[in-house]
Amino acid sequence: MKKKNKSSLFREIPAVDHLLESPRIKETLFGTPRPLVLRAIHEVLDGLRQRIKNIAEADDLPDLAFDAVVDQIVERVSMLSEPRLRHVINATGVIVHTNLGRSPLSKRVIARLGELAGGYSNLEYDLDDGKRGSRYVHVEDILKELTGAEAAMVVNNNAAAVLVALNTIAKDREVIIARSELVEIGGSFRIPEVMRRSGARMFEVGTTNKTTIKDYESAIEARTGLLLKVHKSNFQIVGFTEEVDLAELVTLGRKHGLPVMEDLGSGCLIDFSTYGLRGEPTVQDSIAKGADIVTFSGDKMLGGPQCGIILGTREIVSAIRQNQLSRALRVDKLTILSLQETLHLYRDEKQAIRHIPTLRMICQSYGSVRRKARRLLGMVGRIGKDSVSVGLCDGFSRIGGGAMPLEEIRSCLVSISSRVSPASKIERFFRSYNPPIIMRVEKNLALLDVRTIQEKELRTVAKAIREWYQKEKSEAV
Ligand SMILES: *Cc1c(COP(=O)(O)O)cnc(C)c1O
Repeated sequence: MKKKNKSSLFREIPAVDHLLESPRIKETLFGTPRPLVLRAIHEVLDGLRQRIKNIAEADDLPDLAFDAVVDQIVERVSMLSEPRLRHVINATGVIVHTNLGRSPLSKRVIARLGELAGGYSNLEYDLDDGKRGSRYVHVEDILKELTGAEAAMVVNNNAAAVLVALNTIAKDREVIIARSELVEIGGSFRIPEVMRRSGARMFEVGTTNKTTIKDYESAIEARTGLLLKVHKSNFQIVGFTEEVDLAELVTLGRKHGLPVMEDLGSGCLIDFSTYGLRGEPTVQDSIAKGADIVTFSGDKMLGGPQCGIILGTREIVSAIRQNQLSRALRVDKLTILSLQETLHLYRDEKQAIRHIPTLRMICQSYGSVRRKARRLLGMVGRIGKDSVSVGLCDGFSRIGGGAMPLEEIRSCLVSISSRVSPASKIERFFRSYNPPIIMRVEKNLALLDVRTIQEKELRTVAKAIREWYQKEKSEAV
């Protein structure tokens, strides 16, 4: 370490009282709540102490001048005043991005939220009878209409839907499931774990790659309570494989008087094979094949709010409603409203694709994404060809959220590279932008996938590219 020893450095750190009384803090942070100022001071001072403690021979000494410390505090206050959860721009090309809030809601849905959120509603009030009603009726009818199911209800998310369904149908009984379907989703949802929590006992059949109807049939015993099928959301098994179709499982269930449940994961209401994508099974298919219970997420390919939708027979859905767990997993009025409005858009498939952002992004043609990318470059304007390059290239978007893991949608990307900065540094610049722009890095190229950038965000992205370019130019000289 240079010259000074650590204890003298520690002594140089300004005192809290001294800082609080300083005119600059008093003026600049006038009106800022005192607890916030104190928190900022403590965090900055702790940071300095930590740096001194860990300081090594070659390190620069931290700047402990009073004014420099005050600068840091002012900056920290402004950082702490920023909301933690905020809007980011998704330029990753992953449409249902689990880390970025999955599905954006439709403008049509958002327009209805304000009035309901800021006022009272008939959430649990029957306007015909003037008596207490059920919160689920608002979405049950439309779910039945769209899917052909006998009954429906909604809980907090699909994990909750699976949990409460298993707990209701198969507590203390055995649930037969194919070994190839014991999936893990996003690290925190594992079928065997959820099964254990529900009080059901798991009985695995088949092998990793092959399961036949005989495997299920020979596993059925007096203790069996349910046959379960789980959609392989985020992986595929290819090669020498065999699995049992839901319809076959239903036939087997009927023969033995056992209910059959399917966890669809994403849950599509639209047959995407007509839009040139590999078909995901639709919810309507599962109901038509006779599943007694079907569960799926509201915020994956459905494009609505976070929730778990449960469809099924009147008898089972009614038992699920009466389960105390449902009370603990219930959804609030904003979720019900968002889901109601999203589902109503599905009455007309064209409307749904036009107005539900997730569907619109999935179905947007390559040509249309390319035109959007060209518009973006137009907004960026001229960029000298010295040491940086900003241009278009082709690539692939993904659906994400555990649907069609292998499906790649051809897309148009803006690639950014520099002779001065590695792609990881470019990525960091955009991530620290306000609003943050999240991009992807491939082969030392920083890439903005235009498919997931919303139309109204194009100007902001163009501005960020220009600012990055200016900064890069000034650093290059
Ligand atoms: C995503 C998924 C879940 C969990 O759904 P959440 O809505 O995230 O709780 C459960 N099962 C399958 C098959 C999934 O794909």
